[in-house]
Amino acid sequence: MKYVYFFGGCKAEGTGEMKELLGGKGAGLAEMTRIGLPVPAGFTITTEACDHYFKHSRRYPTGLRAQVSANLKRLERVTRKTLGDAKDPLLVSVRSGSARSMPGMMETILNLGLNEKSVQGLARATGNERFAYDAFRRFVQMYSSVVIGLPKDDLEARLRALKTKLGVKDDTQVSAVGWRELVGQYKAYFREKTHKEFPEDPQEQLWGAIGAVFSSWMAEKAVTYRRVEKITGLLGTAVNVVQMVFGNSGENSGTGVCFTRDPSTGEKSFYGDFLINAQGEDVVAGIRTPMHLNEMAKLMPKVYKQLEHVRKLLETHYRDMQDMEFTVEDGTLYMLQTRVGKRTPTATFKMAVDMVREGLIAKEEALLRVKSEDIERLFYPVIDPAISRRDLTQRRLAAGINAVPGAAVGRAVFSAHEAEEWAHGGEKVILVRRETSPEDVGGMFVAQGILTATGGKSSHAAVVARGWGKCCIVGCEQLDIDYDGKLMRVNGRKVRQGDWITLDGSDGGVYEGQTSLVMPKLPEAYDTLMKWADETRRLGVRTNADTPQDSRKAREMGAEGIGLCRTEHMFFKDFEDPERSIDRQLAIQEMIVADSSEARRKALAKLLPFQRRDFIGIFKAMDGCPVTIRLIDPPLHEFVPHDRAKQEELARKIGVDVEVVARRVEQLREANPMLGHRGCRLAITYPEILEMQVRAIIEAALECQSGGVKVLPEIMHPLTLDRKELQILTDATRRVADEIIAKSGRKLHYLVGTMIELPRAALLADQVAEVAEFFSFGTNDLTQTVMGLSRDDAGRFLPDYVDEKKAGIFKDDPFQTLDTQGVGLLMKWAIERGRATRPKLKIGICGEHGGDAASVVFCHQAGMDYVSASPFRVPIARLAAAQAVIEEKLAKKSKRGGKKSRRP
Ligand code: PEP
Ligand code: MG
Repeated sequence: MKYVYFFGGCKAEGTGEMKELLGGKGAGLAEMTRIGLPVPAGFTITTEACDHYFKHSRRYPTGLRAQVSANLKRLERVTRKTLGDAKDPLLVSVRSGSARSMPGMMETILNLGLNEKSVQGLARATGNERFAYDAFRRFVQMYSSVVIGLPKDDLEARLRALKTKLGVKDDTQVSAVGWRELVGQYKAYFREKTHKEFPEDPQEQLWGAIGAVFSSWMAEKAVTYRRVEKITGLLGTAVNVVQMVFGNSGENSGTGVCFTRDPSTGEKSFYGDFLINAQGEDVVAGIRTPMHLNEMAKLMPKVYKQLEHVRKLLETHYRDMQDMEFTVEDGTLYMLQTRVGKRTPTATFKMAVDMVREGLIAKEEALLRVKSEDIERLFYPVIDPAISRRDLTQRRLAAGINAVPGAAVGRAVFSAHEAEEWAHGGEKVILVRRETSPEDVGGMFVAQGILTATGGKSSHAAVVARGWGKCCIVGCEQLDIDYDGKLMRVNGRKVRQGDWITLDGSDGGVYEGQTSLVMPKLPEAYDTLMKWADETRRLGVRTNADTPQDSRKAREMGAEGIGLCRTEHMFFKDFEDPERSIDRQLAIQEMIVADSSEARRKALAKLLPFQRRDFIGIFKAMDGCPVTIRLIDPPLHEFVPHDRAKQEELARKIGVDVEVVARRVEQLREANPMLGHRGCRLAITYPEILEMQVRAIIEAALECQSGGVKVLPEIMHPLTLDRKELQILTDATRRVADEIIAKSGRKLHYLVGTMIELPRAALLADQVAEVAEFFSFGTNDLTQTVMGLSRDDAGRFLPDYVDEKKAGIFKDDPFQTLDTQGVGLLMKWAIERGRATRPKLKIGICGEHGGDAASVVFCHQAGMDYVSASPFRVPIARLAAAQAVIEEKLAKKSKRGGKKSRRP
């Protein structure tokens, strides 16, 4: 089996298509080599080798050692240097790289091959002793922490102490002697901790590094990152062993990161950071604040021109924005990496639409490039423009680099670990750090926003936050952060841990105190792209909305009707007149406490006008669109008070003895309420509830209709079991509705259907469809009942089922993403059987899954008519429905042509 792929001298064994096997970095290096770009030579160990390593108790596959050795020889031939050579040694970097970018999550070791002999060779060959020992100390530090696992802080403390001793501030001011002394200290520390000498043998170094890179795939932070980012199904990381080039070999050298378009705005402008006389991760780590490419253009015009050329070439080649790493060694440009760049949601939309207009990609490809998270993040807040500039100016603490737009408000917290604690305690936090590192990712994730004192737009903090669309300000150099004292001093003011601050990620402003935020204006490209999505999709998209306000919002978001109006919410709250909510609460409570059908009807009569008013509001908001209204669903105990004081108050208000209330509440107690007296079972026992609700719906519809509103009511019964039960409910519904319609002397078309939430209803769908005019899958309950998992309690142990380091039984939480294998199988059965009885049976979904992109794709494939999602997830469903069509076409095409889907 081939585990190693070589690249160098304009030839590469791998290609850009081989991302799964060579990782993004390996595939990028191979492809850049193939198209003639200046790439240092090297080789990539495949992700299959990593997979083998973990599947066989961390043992390398047979043949790997021999293949690495042969490729190292080849590398030595191409570079005309030898690893560990005492005269002019070959040095290599050993870097991770999986098929999906995981910025900073896995390990890198630079300058490998240095030892006491070769460092002298390097010094002689370059004529620069300081440079050689600088490279050596970096290697020993990286090797000690990454491969051996010695604490980074201990090593860095030694570096800081040395600088203090030498009286210098910057690393660049340390001499060769200083670095040699530091190497000595590191080695002594190594000996003290490991009881071994630091490895001099380059082969031992190389295998140590390869093992460390493989192991980093399963490191806690990498596993967490994959979980958070929902990255699954990868084999592991590849390992790239590449000849070192040096950006730190003098003032004519440097290292940088650049993007072919602005990753924040999406503008077609060349964008990047460059650090003179720096190596490797210095830019990303954000240790020094870099210069913009414009400045670099002035300092190194020739190299800049070459880089501009590479920019055009790579973007045209990959047909997407590229994030590139490069190094300049003594005026010569080397490309070290290219990958599809992470971008803000606004930039995602802009680039996708612009690239279609430029003829670079087709509309279908543009649609596939937008993810549901991109849409969600478009709706992130900005500082309320109504806040006076003067007020803001007075509270302005400092300004940094606006790395990721959007605004955030929270309490300043100076460590990632505490940020997590505070957030779990319900606090909103802003994580403030000098710079961030991958260890901080948990705290970064829970924070509302991130603020760092150093770093540029491509620093770790910026890259990670951008991927999440999270407000982030970097390079805010006025901050003087005191981790021990848990405070920062900034322009003469103090901010202590726990103090409120506000970040404005669009202009880099940092403000004292809490500030109100509002939602941003959508980018122009959003409308264009969503229009394309609507033209492409087959599935209808409705919304779950219970109020006129939500209905209006949902229409703005593109909803084509209501798929679920949960009427019980109206019993709790008067959304038009919240002060009067108590009136309806009392009416429903009186109905529940009532001990005769007559008394219940009396209480229900009080509820009728409230329900009717609410339905009128909803029908008006949904003028011309179908509105599915579900009759009462929750168990009645949810509506009555359980503590004595509140029961006494209720008894007083409705004029009964407190014991009557207490007894009734006790009667309603159920061991298993979710499987108890709820859903349509309430209407079977208390038909008067059904009658009141149907009356409210039909009267509201008639009133709206006479006012010129086009109403399409659909009355839905929840939690039905079979045909007989639904027949009783449908008969009762039609009796009431038809009588009211007949009396009105007008015509009103309405449908009666059911939710499919129980396996029995799904199994007997052919019979149920004899009665039901539509089905709506209530996949929250259906998941609960098919899997035997309580939707209210399973959250306590479900993480273990999803965590790949624990059981890893599910890929996703089945209450978020549909279990297409199990629950989905039953749904497909119900659709098929239902339509066998009633070919035009309207079928939709209204569980939470209706707003989950992967589940929407399933709904499309299963042949449903529509999905229904909460208002803010409506655009996600619209896009996912379009993507499902495109995927389907691509799959058909590739079946015919035998090619793989081109999904990016
Ligand atoms: C469902 O069960 O999927 C559903 C939409 O109903 P609810 O969440 O109100 O039980
Ligand atoms: Mg339900």
